[in-house]
Amino acid sequence: MSQEQDNFRDSIGTINEEGKRAWVFPKKPSGKFYEYRKYVSYFLLAFLFASPFIKINGNQFLMFNVLERRFNIFGFPFWPQDFHLFVISMIIGVIFIALFTVAYGRIFCGWMCPQTIFMEMVFRRIEYWIDGDRGAQIKLDRQPWDGKKIRKRILKWTIFFIISFLIANVFLAYLIGSDRLVRYVIDGPFQHLSTLISLLIFTAVFYFVFAWFREQVCIIACPYGRMQGVLLDNKSVVVAYDHKRGEAENGRKKWRKNEDRNALGHGDCIDCFQCVNVCPTGIDIRNGTQLECVNCTACIDECDTIMEKVNLPKGLIRYASEDEIVKKEKFKFTPRLKGYTAVLTILIGVLAGMLFLRNDLEANILRLPGQLYEHKEGNIISNVYTYKLVNKTSDDVEGVSFQLLSHKGAIKLVRNELFTVPAQDLAEGTLFVEINNAAVKSDKEKIKIGVYSDGELIETTLTAFMAPRSYR
Ligand code: SF4
Ligand code: SF4
Repeated sequence: MSQEQDNFRDSIGTINEEGKRAWVFPKKPSGKFYEYRKYVSYFLLAFLFASPFIKINGNQFLMFNVLERRFNIFGFPFWPQDFHLFVISMIIGVIFIALFTVAYGRIFCGWMCPQTIFMEMVFRRIEYWIDGDRGAQIKLDRQPWDGKKIRKRILKWTIFFIISFLIANVFLAYLIGSDRLVRYVIDGPFQHLSTLISLLIFTAVFYFVFAWFREQVCIIACPYGRMQGVLLDNKSVVVAYDHKRGEAENGRKKWRKNEDRNALGHGDCIDCFQCVNVCPTGIDIRNGTQLECVNCTACIDECDTIMEKVNLPKGLIRYASEDEIVKKEKFKFTPRLKGYTAVLTILIGVLAGMLFLRNDLEANILRLPGQLYEHKEGNIISNVYTYKLVNKTSDDVEGVSFQLLSHKGAIKLVRNELFTVPAQDLAEGTLFVEINNAAVKSDKEKIKIGVYSDGELIETTLTAFMAPRSYR
Protein backbone atom coordinates (compact mmCIF):
# COMPACT_ATOMS: atom_id res chain seq x y z
CA MET A 1 0.00 0.00 0.00
CA SER A 2 1.43 3.40 -0.96
CA GLN A 3 2.14 6.19 1.52
CA GLU A 4 -0.78 8.14 0.12
CA GLN A 5 -3.17 5.21 0.41
CA ASP A 6 -1.99 4.62 3.95
CA ASN A 7 -3.01 8.15 5.05
CA PHE A 8 -6.16 6.85 6.71
CA ARG A 9 -3.94 5.50 9.50
CA ASP A 10 -2.81 9.03 10.44
CA SER A 11 -6.06 9.84 12.19
CA ILE A 12 -9.09 7.97 13.49
CA GLY A 13 -12.22 7.80 11.38
CA THR A 14 -14.29 10.01 13.65
CA ILE A 15 -11.95 13.03 13.76
CA ASN A 16 -12.09 15.48 10.87
CA GLU A 17 -9.20 17.44 9.35
CA GLU A 18 -9.65 20.29 11.85
CA GLY A 19 -9.33 17.79 14.69
CA LYS A 20 -13.01 18.00 15.58
CA ARG A 21 -15.42 15.14 16.13
CA ALA A 22 -16.84 13.91 12.85
CA TRP A 23 -20.31 12.72 13.85
CA VAL A 24 -21.16 9.35 12.32
CA PHE A 25 -24.60 8.91 10.77
CA PRO A 26 -24.54 5.21 9.87
CA LYS A 27 -27.08 3.82 7.46
CA LYS A 28 -29.56 1.44 9.06
CA PRO A 29 -28.10 -2.05 8.63
CA SER A 30 -30.13 -4.88 7.19
CA GLY A 31 -29.31 -8.41 6.16
CA LYS A 32 -28.64 -11.91 7.39
CA PHE A 33 -26.00 -11.06 10.01
CA TYR A 34 -27.98 -8.12 11.36
CA GLU A 35 -30.97 -10.42 11.89
CA TYR A 36 -28.80 -12.98 13.75
CA ARG A 37 -27.25 -10.22 15.83
CA LYS A 38 -30.72 -9.00 16.78
CA TYR A 39 -31.63 -12.42 18.21
CA VAL A 40 -28.31 -12.70 20.05
CA SER A 41 -28.84 -9.21 21.47
CA TYR A 42 -32.40 -10.05 22.66
CA PHE A 43 -31.02 -13.05 24.51
CA LEU A 44 -28.09 -11.12 26.03
CA LEU A 45 -30.27 -8.17 27.05
CA ALA A 46 -32.75 -10.53 28.73
CA PHE A 47 -29.81 -12.24 30.48
CA LEU A 48 -28.31 -8.92 31.59
CA PHE A 49 -31.59 -7.56 32.97
CA ALA A 50 -32.71 -10.85 34.58
CA SER A 51 -29.42 -12.04 36.14
CA PRO A 52 -29.54 -9.88 39.28
CA PHE A 53 -33.09 -11.10 39.96
CA ILE A 54 -32.43 -14.84 39.49
CA LYS A 55 -31.57 -16.75 42.66
CA ILE A 56 -29.80 -20.10 42.98
CA ASN A 57 -29.95 -21.63 46.47
CA GLY A 58 -30.93 -18.19 47.70
CA ASN A 59 -27.85 -16.56 46.10
CA GLN A 60 -28.14 -13.89 43.44
CA PHE A 61 -27.05 -15.42 40.11
CA LEU A 62 -24.55 -12.64 39.37
CA MET A 63 -23.47 -10.00 41.88
CA PHE A 64 -20.37 -7.82 42.07
CA ASN A 65 -20.63 -6.08 45.43
CA VAL A 66 -17.25 -4.37 45.34
CA LEU A 67 -18.01 -2.21 48.38
CA GLU A 68 -18.63 -5.20 50.68
CA ARG A 69 -16.25 -7.45 48.72
CA ARG A 70 -18.95 -10.04 48.03
CA PHE A 71 -19.28 -11.59 44.62
CA ASN A 72 -21.66 -14.18 43.21
CA ILE A 73 -20.78 -15.85 39.94
CA PHE A 74 -23.43 -18.19 38.51
CA GLY A 75 -24.99 -18.37 41.98
CA PHE A 76 -21.65 -19.30 43.55
CA PRO A 77 -20.87 -16.87 46.40
CA PHE A 78 -17.27 -15.68 46.61
CA TRP A 79 -16.10 -14.25 49.92
CA PRO A 80 -12.98 -12.13 50.52
CA GLN A 81 -11.42 -15.47 51.65
CA ASP A 82 -12.10 -16.81 48.15
CA PHE A 83 -10.42 -13.88 46.47
CA HIS A 84 -7.83 -16.18 44.84
CA LEU A 85 -10.69 -18.08 43.15
CA PHE A 86 -12.21 -14.84 41.95
CA VAL A 87 -8.83 -13.68 40.57
CA ILE A 88 -8.29 -17.04 38.80
CA SER A 89 -11.76 -16.89 37.22
CA MET A 90 -11.01 -13.33 36.05
CA ILE A 91 -7.63 -14.44 34.60
CA ILE A 92 -9.39 -17.33 32.84
CA GLY A 93 -11.90 -14.84 31.46
CA VAL A 94 -9.14 -12.58 30.11
CA ILE A 95 -7.17 -15.49 28.59
CA PHE A 96 -10.34 -16.86 27.09
CA ILE A 97 -11.07 -13.55 25.40
CA ALA A 98 -7.42 -13.27 24.25
CA LEU A 99 -7.50 -16.80 22.81
CA PHE A 100 -10.76 -16.08 21.14
CA THR A 101 -9.40 -12.84 19.69
CA VAL A 102 -6.33 -14.54 18.23
CA ALA A 103 -8.58 -17.04 16.49
CA TYR A 104 -11.71 -15.07 15.67
CA GLY A 105 -10.71 -11.39 15.92
CA ARG A 106 -13.14 -9.04 17.59
CA ILE A 107 -16.15 -11.29 17.37
CA PHE A 108 -16.82 -10.45 21.04
CA CYS A 109 -17.06 -6.71 20.22
CA GLY A 110 -19.57 -7.17 17.44
CA TRP A 111 -21.79 -9.81 18.97
CA MET A 112 -21.50 -9.72 22.74
CA CYS A 113 -20.06 -6.49 24.08
CA PRO A 114 -22.69 -4.60 26.14
CA GLN A 115 -21.50 -1.30 24.63
CA THR A 116 -22.20 -2.52 21.06
CA ILE A 117 -25.44 -4.24 22.05
CA PHE A 118 -26.86 -1.19 23.81
CA MET A 119 -25.56 1.25 21.18
CA GLU A 120 -26.51 -0.61 18.02
CA MET A 121 -29.47 -2.66 19.16
CA VAL A 122 -31.19 -0.28 21.59
CA PHE A 123 -30.20 3.39 21.28
CA ARG A 124 -29.44 3.42 17.55
CA ARG A 125 -32.68 1.64 16.71
CA ILE A 126 -34.65 4.26 18.70
CA GLU A 127 -32.75 6.91 16.77
CA TYR A 128 -33.74 5.35 13.43
CA TRP A 129 -37.33 5.19 14.65
CA ILE A 130 -37.42 8.88 15.66
CA ASP A 131 -34.97 10.57 13.28
CA GLY A 132 -35.15 8.22 10.29
CA ASP A 133 -32.30 6.66 8.32
CA ARG A 134 -28.90 8.19 7.51
CA GLY A 135 -30.10 10.78 4.97
CA ALA A 136 -32.91 12.04 7.22
CA GLN A 137 -30.56 12.19 10.21
CA ILE A 138 -27.99 14.28 8.32
CA LYS A 139 -30.76 16.59 7.09
CA LEU A 140 -32.20 16.96 10.59
CA ASP A 141 -28.78 17.67 12.04
CA ARG A 142 -28.08 20.43 9.52
CA GLN A 143 -31.49 22.09 9.61
CA PRO A 144 -32.20 25.01 11.99
CA TRP A 145 -33.91 24.41 15.34
CA ASP A 146 -37.54 24.54 14.25
CA GLY A 147 -40.52 22.98 16.04
CA LYS A 148 -40.05 19.59 14.35
CA LYS A 149 -36.37 19.31 15.29
CA ILE A 150 -37.01 20.41 18.90
CA ARG A 151 -39.86 17.87 19.25
CA LYS A 152 -37.74 15.04 17.85
CA ARG A 153 -34.73 15.91 19.98
CA ILE A 154 -36.78 16.19 23.21
CA LEU A 155 -38.49 12.86 22.50
CA LYS A 156 -35.20 11.13 21.71
CA TRP A 157 -33.26 12.54 24.65
CA THR A 158 -36.13 11.77 27.07
CA ILE A 159 -36.28 8.13 25.92
CA PHE A 160 -32.47 7.91 26.09
CA PHE A 161 -32.58 9.27 29.64
CA ILE A 162 -35.27 6.78 30.75
CA ILE A 163 -33.31 3.85 29.29
CA SER A 164 -30.08 5.12 30.88
CA PHE A 165 -31.93 5.31 34.22
CA LEU A 166 -33.14 1.72 33.76
CA ILE A 167 -29.64 0.50 32.92
CA ALA A 168 -28.28 2.36 35.97
CA ASN A 169 -30.83 0.54 38.17
CA VAL A 170 -29.78 -2.85 36.79
CA PHE A 171 -26.13 -1.87 37.22
CA LEU A 172 -26.92 -1.02 40.87
CA ALA A 173 -28.65 -4.39 41.32
CA TYR A 174 -25.37 -6.05 40.27
CA LEU A 175 -23.46 -3.83 42.70
CA ILE A 176 -25.56 -3.82 45.88
CA GLY A 177 -27.83 -6.80 45.20
CA SER A 178 -31.36 -6.86 43.79
CA ASP A 179 -33.00 -7.46 47.20
CA ARG A 180 -31.51 -4.28 48.57
CA LEU A 181 -32.39 -2.35 45.43
CA VAL A 182 -36.04 -3.49 45.63
CA ARG A 183 -36.12 -2.58 49.34
CA TYR A 184 -34.78 0.90 48.56
CA VAL A 185 -37.40 1.37 45.86
CA ILE A 186 -40.17 0.34 48.30
CA ASP A 187 -38.75 2.59 51.05
CA GLY A 188 -38.73 5.52 48.63
CA PRO A 189 -35.58 6.94 47.02
CA PHE A 190 -35.28 9.87 49.45
CA GLN A 191 -34.80 7.46 52.37
CA HIS A 192 -31.50 6.46 50.73
CA LEU A 193 -30.23 9.72 49.38
CA SER A 194 -26.61 8.66 48.79
CA THR A 195 -27.79 5.66 46.71
CA LEU A 196 -30.11 7.94 44.74
CA ILE A 197 -27.20 10.30 44.00
CA SER A 198 -25.04 7.34 42.84
CA LEU A 199 -27.93 6.15 40.67
CA LEU A 200 -28.23 9.56 39.03
CA ILE A 201 -24.47 9.70 38.45
CA PHE A 202 -24.59 6.26 36.75
CA THR A 203 -27.58 7.44 34.70
CA ALA A 204 -25.64 10.54 33.59
CA VAL A 205 -22.62 8.40 32.62
CA PHE A 206 -24.76 5.96 30.57
CA TYR A 207 -26.63 8.87 28.96
CA PHE A 208 -23.33 10.58 28.05
CA VAL A 209 -21.93 7.34 26.59
CA PHE A 210 -24.95 6.40 24.48
CA ALA A 211 -26.20 9.84 23.49
CA TRP A 212 -22.87 11.49 22.74
CA PHE A 213 -19.64 9.52 23.30
CA ARG A 214 -20.83 6.44 21.38
CA GLU A 215 -18.23 4.74 19.14
CA GLN A 216 -15.50 6.77 20.87
CA VAL A 217 -15.72 4.25 23.74
CA CYS A 218 -14.52 1.49 21.38
CA ILE A 219 -11.94 3.66 19.65
CA ILE A 220 -10.46 5.65 22.52
CA ALA A 221 -11.49 4.23 25.88
CA CYS A 222 -11.76 0.44 25.55
CA PRO A 223 -8.49 -1.33 26.53
CA TYR A 224 -9.57 -4.47 24.68
CA GLY A 225 -9.89 -2.49 21.46
CA ARG A 226 -6.42 -1.02 21.96
CA MET A 227 -4.94 -4.52 22.38
CA GLN A 228 -6.02 -5.67 18.92
CA GLY A 229 -2.68 -4.66 17.40
CA VAL A 230 -0.84 -7.26 19.48
CA LEU A 231 -3.50 -9.97 19.45
CA LEU A 232 -4.34 -10.16 15.78
CA ASP A 233 -2.15 -11.75 13.15
CA ASN A 234 -2.58 -12.74 9.51
CA LYS A 235 -4.36 -15.92 10.53
CA SER A 236 -6.97 -14.24 12.76
CA VAL A 237 -10.45 -14.37 11.31
CA VAL A 238 -11.82 -10.83 11.10
CA VAL A 239 -14.39 -8.93 9.08
CA ALA A 240 -12.26 -8.39 6.00
CA TYR A 241 -12.53 -6.96 2.53
CA ASP A 242 -11.26 -9.38 -0.12
CA HIS A 243 -8.88 -6.90 -1.72
CA LYS A 244 -7.64 -9.51 -4.23
CA ARG A 245 -11.12 -9.90 -5.61
CA GLY A 246 -12.31 -6.35 -5.02
CA GLU A 247 -9.36 -4.58 -6.66
CA ALA A 248 -8.09 -7.16 -9.25
CA GLU A 249 -5.38 -5.69 -11.54
CA ASN A 250 -6.94 -2.35 -12.32
CA GLY A 251 -8.68 -1.49 -9.07
CA ARG A 252 -12.27 -0.86 -8.08
CA LYS A 253 -14.59 0.95 -10.45
CA LYS A 254 -18.16 2.28 -10.47
CA TRP A 255 -20.78 -0.08 -11.87
CA ARG A 256 -21.76 0.30 -15.49
CA LYS A 257 -24.39 -1.85 -17.05
CA ASN A 258 -23.28 -4.18 -19.84
CA GLU A 259 -19.60 -3.52 -19.16
CA ASP A 260 -17.25 -6.52 -19.04
CA ARG A 261 -15.35 -5.73 -15.84
CA ASN A 262 -13.26 -8.90 -16.12
CA ALA A 263 -11.98 -7.95 -19.53
CA LEU A 264 -11.14 -4.45 -18.28
CA GLY A 265 -9.31 -5.91 -15.27
CA HIS A 266 -11.51 -4.21 -12.69
CA GLY A 267 -12.27 -5.82 -9.38
CA ASP A 268 -15.69 -6.69 -8.01
CA CYS A 269 -15.88 -3.60 -5.78
CA ILE A 270 -18.17 -1.15 -7.52
CA ASP A 271 -17.05 1.71 -5.25
CA CYS A 272 -20.60 2.36 -4.07
CA PHE A 273 -19.48 3.43 -0.57
CA GLN A 274 -22.39 1.57 1.04
CA CYS A 275 -20.00 -0.34 3.33
CA VAL A 276 -18.62 3.01 4.51
CA ASN A 277 -22.05 4.58 4.95
CA VAL A 278 -23.29 1.72 7.10
CA CYS A 279 -20.23 1.58 9.37
CA PRO A 280 -21.01 2.77 12.91
CA THR A 281 -17.37 3.70 13.52
CA GLY A 282 -17.09 5.68 10.29
CA ILE A 283 -14.30 3.71 8.60
CA ASP A 284 -13.69 2.26 5.16
CA ILE A 285 -13.09 -1.49 5.62
CA ARG A 286 -11.49 -1.57 2.19
CA ASN A 287 -8.40 0.04 3.77
CA GLY A 288 -7.81 -3.18 5.71
CA THR A 289 -8.15 -4.13 9.37
CA GLN A 290 -8.30 -1.01 11.54
CA LEU A 291 -8.48 -0.46 15.27
CA GLU A 292 -11.86 1.28 14.89
CA CYS A 293 -13.54 -1.83 13.43
CA VAL A 294 -15.72 -3.55 16.02
CA ASN A 295 -16.53 -6.44 13.64
CA CYS A 296 -20.20 -5.57 13.73
CA THR A 297 -20.80 -7.24 10.32
CA ALA A 298 -22.95 -4.33 9.03
CA CYS A 299 -20.62 -3.88 6.03
CA ILE A 300 -20.83 -7.61 5.20
CA ASP A 301 -24.61 -7.40 4.96
CA GLU A 302 -24.50 -4.17 3.01
CA CYS A 303 -21.94 -5.38 0.48
CA ASP A 304 -23.78 -8.69 0.02
CA THR A 305 -26.95 -6.74 -0.83
CA ILE A 306 -25.00 -4.72 -3.42
CA MET A 307 -23.35 -7.85 -4.87
CA GLU A 308 -26.77 -9.44 -5.25
CA LYS A 309 -28.07 -6.37 -7.06
CA VAL A 310 -25.20 -6.35 -9.59
CA ASN A 311 -25.24 -10.12 -9.91
CA LEU A 312 -21.77 -10.76 -8.55
CA PRO A 313 -20.90 -13.43 -5.95
CA LYS A 314 -21.54 -12.45 -2.33
CA GLY A 315 -18.73 -12.40 0.27
CA LEU A 316 -16.58 -9.56 -1.08
CA ILE A 317 -16.57 -8.46 2.54
CA ARG A 318 -16.74 -11.49 4.83
CA TYR A 319 -15.26 -13.24 7.86
CA ALA A 320 -11.78 -14.22 6.67
CA SER A 321 -8.12 -14.02 7.65
CA GLU A 322 -5.54 -12.07 5.67
CA ASP A 323 -3.80 -15.35 4.74
CA GLU A 324 -7.08 -16.81 3.57
CA ILE A 325 -7.52 -13.86 1.23
CA VAL A 326 -3.92 -13.58 -0.01
CA LYS A 327 -2.79 -17.23 -0.02
CA LYS A 328 -6.22 -18.81 -0.18
CA GLU A 329 -5.27 -20.68 3.02
CA LYS A 330 -7.77 -22.30 5.35
CA PHE A 331 -7.93 -21.68 9.11
CA LYS A 332 -5.02 -23.37 10.98
CA PHE A 333 -4.54 -24.25 14.64
CA THR A 334 -1.25 -22.32 15.12
CA PRO A 335 1.34 -23.01 17.89
CA ARG A 336 0.25 -19.73 19.53
CA LEU A 337 -3.33 -21.00 19.65
CA LYS A 338 -2.13 -24.32 21.05
CA GLY A 339 -0.22 -22.47 23.79
CA TYR A 340 -3.23 -20.36 24.75
CA THR A 341 -5.46 -23.43 24.79
CA ALA A 342 -3.03 -25.33 27.04
CA VAL A 343 -2.87 -22.44 29.52
CA LEU A 344 -6.65 -22.10 29.43
CA THR A 345 -7.19 -25.82 30.05
CA ILE A 346 -4.78 -25.83 33.00
CA LEU A 347 -6.40 -22.76 34.54
CA ILE A 348 -9.90 -24.17 34.14
CA GLY A 349 -8.70 -27.43 35.76
CA VAL A 350 -7.17 -25.50 38.68
CA LEU A 351 -10.33 -23.43 39.11
CA ALA A 352 -12.63 -26.47 38.96
CA GLY A 353 -10.40 -28.27 41.50
CA MET A 354 -10.42 -25.28 43.82
CA LEU A 355 -14.18 -24.88 43.56
CA PHE A 356 -14.67 -28.59 44.14
CA LEU A 357 -12.41 -28.61 47.19
CA ARG A 358 -13.81 -25.39 48.61
CA ASN A 359 -15.66 -25.85 51.89
CA ASP A 360 -19.02 -24.29 52.56
CA LEU A 361 -17.75 -23.31 55.98
CA GLU A 362 -14.28 -21.86 56.29
CA ALA A 363 -12.53 -21.93 59.67
CA ASN A 364 -9.62 -19.79 60.76
CA ILE A 365 -8.21 -20.34 64.24
CA LEU A 366 -5.23 -18.21 65.23
CA ARG A 367 -3.35 -17.75 68.47
CA LEU A 368 -4.18 -14.49 70.21
CA PRO A 369 -1.29 -12.13 69.37
CA GLY A 370 1.02 -11.31 72.28
CA GLN A 371 -0.13 -14.26 74.42
CA LEU A 372 2.20 -17.15 75.19
CA TYR A 373 0.73 -20.02 77.24
CA GLU A 374 -0.61 -20.63 80.72
CA HIS A 375 0.20 -23.36 83.23
CA LYS A 376 -2.79 -24.94 84.83
CA GLU A 377 -3.31 -27.50 87.53
CA GLY A 378 -2.45 -31.10 86.66
CA ASN A 379 0.44 -30.27 84.27
CA ILE A 380 -1.99 -28.71 81.76
CA ILE A 381 -0.80 -26.08 79.27
CA SER A 382 -3.43 -23.69 77.94
CA ASN A 383 -3.26 -21.48 74.79
CA VAL A 384 -5.80 -18.84 73.87
CA TYR A 385 -7.08 -18.43 70.27
CA THR A 386 -9.48 -16.34 68.24
CA TYR A 387 -11.67 -18.18 65.79
CA LYS A 388 -13.48 -16.95 62.70
CA LEU A 389 -16.01 -19.17 60.94
CA VAL A 390 -17.35 -18.02 57.57
CA ASN A 391 -20.60 -19.61 56.40
CA LYS A 392 -20.67 -19.33 52.59
CA THR A 393 -24.03 -21.06 52.21
CA SER A 394 -27.53 -19.62 52.35
CA ASP A 395 -28.48 -21.89 55.32
CA ASP A 396 -27.59 -21.39 58.98
CA VAL A 397 -24.96 -23.81 60.31
CA GLU A 398 -26.34 -24.84 63.70
CA GLY A 399 -25.01 -26.60 66.79
CA VAL A 400 -21.41 -25.66 66.07
CA SER A 401 -18.69 -27.00 68.37
CA PHE A 402 -14.93 -27.68 68.25
CA GLN A 403 -12.92 -30.81 69.03
CA LEU A 404 -9.20 -31.34 69.28
CA LEU A 405 -8.37 -34.07 66.75
CA SER A 406 -4.58 -34.34 66.90
CA HIS A 407 -4.04 -34.58 70.65
CA LYS A 408 -5.81 -35.64 73.79
CA GLY A 409 -7.03 -32.45 75.37
CA ALA A 410 -9.94 -30.05 75.61
CA ILE A 411 -11.30 -27.01 73.81
CA LYS A 412 -13.19 -24.49 75.93
CA LEU A 413 -15.23 -21.68 74.48
CA VAL A 414 -15.56 -18.38 76.30
CA ARG A 415 -19.28 -18.15 75.46
CA ASN A 416 -21.87 -20.87 74.71
CA GLU A 417 -20.64 -24.36 73.97
CA LEU A 418 -22.89 -24.69 70.92
CA PHE A 419 -23.59 -21.77 68.64
CA THR A 420 -24.92 -20.94 65.17
CA VAL A 421 -23.12 -19.41 62.21
CA PRO A 422 -25.82 -17.49 60.30
CA ALA A 423 -26.24 -17.98 56.56
CA GLN A 424 -23.87 -15.85 54.41
CA ASP A 425 -22.35 -14.51 57.60
CA LEU A 426 -19.58 -15.22 60.05
CA ALA A 427 -19.10 -16.01 63.73
CA GLU A 428 -16.09 -14.90 65.73
CA GLY A 429 -14.97 -15.56 69.27
CA THR A 430 -12.30 -16.77 71.64
CA LEU A 431 -11.44 -20.32 72.67
CA PHE A 432 -8.87 -22.09 74.86
CA VAL A 433 -7.04 -25.27 73.96
CA GLU A 434 -5.79 -27.27 76.93
CA ILE A 435 -3.34 -30.14 76.49
CA ASN A 436 -1.46 -32.16 79.07
CA ASN A 437 2.17 -31.19 78.79
CA ALA A 438 3.23 -34.82 78.56
CA ALA A 439 1.36 -35.08 75.23
CA VAL A 440 3.18 -32.12 73.70
CA LYS A 441 6.33 -33.01 71.80
CA SER A 442 7.75 -29.58 70.92
CA ASP A 443 7.53 -25.99 72.15
CA LYS A 444 5.61 -25.04 68.99
CA GLU A 445 3.35 -27.91 68.13
CA LYS A 446 0.97 -28.21 65.15
CA ILE A 447 -2.51 -29.13 66.33
CA LYS A 448 -5.58 -30.10 64.31
CA ILE A 449 -9.01 -28.83 65.32
CA GLY A 450 -12.30 -30.18 63.98
CA VAL A 451 -15.40 -28.03 63.51
CA TYR A 452 -18.66 -29.91 64.09
CA SER A 453 -22.26 -29.10 63.27
CA ASP A 454 -24.78 -31.08 65.30
CA GLY A 455 -22.06 -33.64 65.98
CA GLU A 456 -20.98 -34.01 62.34
CA LEU A 457 -17.45 -33.05 61.29
CA ILE A 458 -17.72 -30.30 58.64
CA GLU A 459 -14.25 -28.72 58.56
CA THR A 460 -10.76 -29.19 59.95
CA THR A 461 -8.06 -26.60 60.44
CA LEU A 462 -4.45 -26.52 61.65
CA THR A 463 -2.96 -24.07 64.11
CA ALA A 464 0.07 -23.75 66.41
CA PHE A 465 0.19 -24.64 70.11
CA MET A 466 2.91 -23.09 72.30
CA ALA A 467 4.44 -24.89 75.26
CA PRO A 468 7.40 -24.03 77.51
CA ARG A 469 10.79 -24.93 76.04
CA SER A 470 12.16 -26.16 79.42
CA TYR A 471 9.64 -28.98 79.47
CA ARG A 472 10.98 -30.61 76.30
S1 SF4 B 1 -20.21 -2.15 -0.41
FE1 SF4 B 1 -18.96 -3.64 -1.46
S2 SF4 B 1 -19.01 -2.93 -3.56
FE2 SF4 B 1 -19.71 -1.23 -2.35
S3 SF4 B 1 -17.86 -0.07 -1.94
FE3 SF4 B 1 -18.10 -1.46 -0.26
S4 SF4 B 1 -16.86 -3.21 -0.84
FE4 SF4 B 1 -17.20 -2.03 -2.69
S1 SF4 C 1 -15.82 -1.92 9.15
FE1 SF4 C 1 -17.65 -3.21 8.98
S2 SF4 C 1 -17.50 -4.63 10.67
FE2 SF4 C 1 -16.04 -2.98 11.08
S3 SF4 C 1 -17.19 -1.57 12.36
FE3 SF4 C 1 -17.43 -0.87 10.26
S4 SF4 C 1 -19.30 -1.86 9.54
FE4 SF4 C 1 -18.70 -2.89 11.40
